[in-house]
Amino acid sequence: MNEALKSELRVLVTGGAGFIGSNLVHALLPKKEVSRLVVLDSLTYSGCRGNLIEAEQNEKFSFSEIDLRDVTAVSDLICDGEFDVIFHLAAESHVDRSITGPSVFVETNVVGTINLLEACRAAWKGGFENKRFLHVSTDEVFGSLGSSGAFNEDSPYRPNSPYSASKAGADHLVRAYNVTYGFPAMITNCSNNFGPFQFPEKLIPLVIDRAVNKERIPVYGDGSNVRDWIYVADHVSALWAAFKKGEVGESYNIGGGNEWPNIHVVETICDLVDFRLGRDSQETRQLISMVQDRPGHDFRYAIDSTKCHETLDWKPEYEFREALGATVKWYLENQPWVELVQSRSA
Ligand code: NAD
Repeated sequence: MNEALKSELRVLVTGGAGFIGSNLVHALLPKKEVSRLVVLDSLTYSGCRGNLIEAEQNEKFSFSEIDLRDVTAVSDLICDGEFDVIFHLAAESHVDRSITGPSVFVETNVVGTINLLEACRAAWKGGFENKRFLHVSTDEVFGSLGSSGAFNEDSPYRPNSPYSASKAGADHLVRAYNVTYGFPAMITNCSNNFGPFQFPEKLIPLVIDRAVNKERIPVYGDGSNVRDWIYVADHVSALWAAFKKGEVGESYNIGGGNEWPNIHVVETICDLVDFRLGRDSQETRQLISMVQDRPGHDFRYAIDSTKCHETLDWKPEYEFREALGATVKWYLENQPWVELVQSRSA
């Protein structure tokens, strides 16, 4: 536990109406140290105020609809909020969208991040000692692995998509602010998340949605691409551990230690849907259809989380198949949510 941190925390979560952000908000609000929690979010297609319905009942919570690209609005909020800790998650986050329209990824992920950093640097000019800025990033900044090895905190940056390049740019700015100004930042790089409230364009919720509706389930290439899946609750607990026990200026690689080829994930989801909906064994697998690979598709990601295990005393708790089963159940029970977010983005 870092002694410099205050016992009553005013917290800002950027991107708190998105998938990981809303899960983080729900985990932070019950904590006794958190005295106030503000979400900054511009509610793009992937952000939904409805993800925060439970949080809205809590008197510690408030919501600010602000775009990170709006310098004045960001700086006013940071100045007035007197935040002790910022969890920065707001981003454009979908690789396929970054291939068809990369500019907004630079505007939000790079320029938006520097707007936030500058606002904090101005607001925190009285001293950085008990302030923290946690920049939430991805393992995709490290590029692709072959069939062996894993990314650690010293792995070179080799982003391959406009999304990962924009996240890498933001990581470099955050690191440079720490080195140049002593800015109290840490960076986390996490592997692929899944769980409740994930917009159904990402692999796991997309497959669940297609399976439920008996629609074609597209899988890129031959389905052999490998991802290291982590349940969102484990990512969220790692972010809190990084805040509480991490060192300013450090980066932390967070992974599930759980590598799966995409095709096996897809088949498992199909079988879980068959089980839940009482369909014949392997019925939903018939919907799987291989499609042309994504350009620049990284073959494999894997994370070496030794540093998190040893210095943050953090380990993932959720077993993959159980968490995947719980996720399938959540989506089946929350079909109105799926319809709502799909209609908002149409
Ligand atoms: P998401 O797309 O579900 O949520 C992003 C949120 O950011 C949305 O609520 C959106 O409205 C908001 N946002 C987008 N542009 C904004 C802007 N200009 N101003 C203010 N708000 C804006 O994404 P997610 O999957 O929850 O990812 C959150 C963060 O975690 C991202 O920074 C992402 O790079 C990182 N990350 C994600 C994963 C993953 O597997 N999903 C893995 C590692 C790291």
